[in-house]
Amino acid sequence: IRKIGVLTSGGDAPGMNAAIRAIVRTCAFHDVMCVGIFRGFQGLVEGDFEVLGPRDVNYIINKGGTILKTARCSAFKTEEGRKTAYENIKNAQLDALIVIGGDGSFTGAMVLSKEFDIPVMGIPGTIDNDIHGTSHTIGFDTALNTVVDAVDKIRDTASSHKRLFFVEVMGRDAGHIALNAGIGAGAEEIIIPEENMGLERLLESLQKSKLTGKSSSIVLVAEGERLGKNVFELGAYVEENLPEYDVRVSVLGHMQRGGAPSCFDRVLASRLSVKAVETLLEGKRNYMVGLINDQVALTPLEQAVKGHSQIDAELLRVSDIISI
Ligand code: ATP
Repeated sequence: IRKIGVLTSGGDAPGMNAAIRAIVRTCAFHDVMCVGIFRGFQGLVEGDFEVLGPRDVNYIINKGGTILKTARCSAFKTEEGRKTAYENIKNAQLDALIVIGGDGSFTGAMVLSKEFDIPVMGIPGTIDNDIHGTSHTIGFDTALNTVVDAVDKIRDTASSHKRLFFVEVMGRDAGHIALNAGIGAGAEEIIIPEENMGLERLLESLQKSKLTGKSSSIVLVAEGERLGKNVFELGAYVEENLPEYDVRVSVLGHMQRGGAPSCFDRVLASRLSVKAVETLLEGKRNYMVGLINDQVALTPLEQAVKGHSQIDAELLRVSDIISI
């Protein structure tokens, strides 16, 4: 393997730049050429490539987003689009591809690899932490810190006015952000897709909080329909049924994706990226590099895509106990 292409795809996540930097430099360390592909699979289809050397990735380890940009590319879902992509790969003499993204991006990479026999490696980059085969995805830790910081600020105003806040966080299909940040920020209740607590239990729990003298309450809600309602409807429902509460709703939105990556995410991105390049150089292909029991570990891409990341039952229990 003499030339490796790298792209970021799907939703951006803080720490993707640290991964790009580590890939470029690991390639240089092993005398392999590294080519940056812009805007994910879109750039692969359009041939938007640029050779990257170690000095092209100075001062990016601390930056959020991705210098390679990212995109969702519908053309890549068609055979014709992938054929064009492969022609560009051949013309640029790329011997392998590293894809930093979520499971959609890994699926795309696998399809390409099967059709055209090109080795690929996946690096999990998404704030949602919803990928099988790694305890942490790149960007998750930073997003948690961002959410906890925002909820701390909301609590200041909540407690001053004795209000109940419903705070919506990202994680439409996975409650990792809500659960972890909820524990970290001391939320009274956490509403996630993996657990249907029911409206009755929510009301009971909030009523109990009031009776035991809590002066403010925070409920963290993973985005999407929860308990049959969106976050605004949930807030209205609780206010209607518990008139003693003054309810407000706050949607954190895209700020959760931004900001400088945490040290944890920078270190994680660096470790996974070195392993991704070196695994390709060992002649292996089609793995995802992840963290299992704090060790860098390989999972076949196919398994990573098929498997489901599980919500930690112990965390659920901790949350229930300490929100009393
Ligand atoms: P995130 O978790 O942030 O949403 P993701 O990688 O799961 O990231 P997707 O939008 O699902 O994001 O996928 C990114 C891109 O991967 C798609 O825009 C498409 O180009 C490619 N892709 C996804 N699924 C397939 C597929 N079945 N075949 C070919 N390409 C695919």
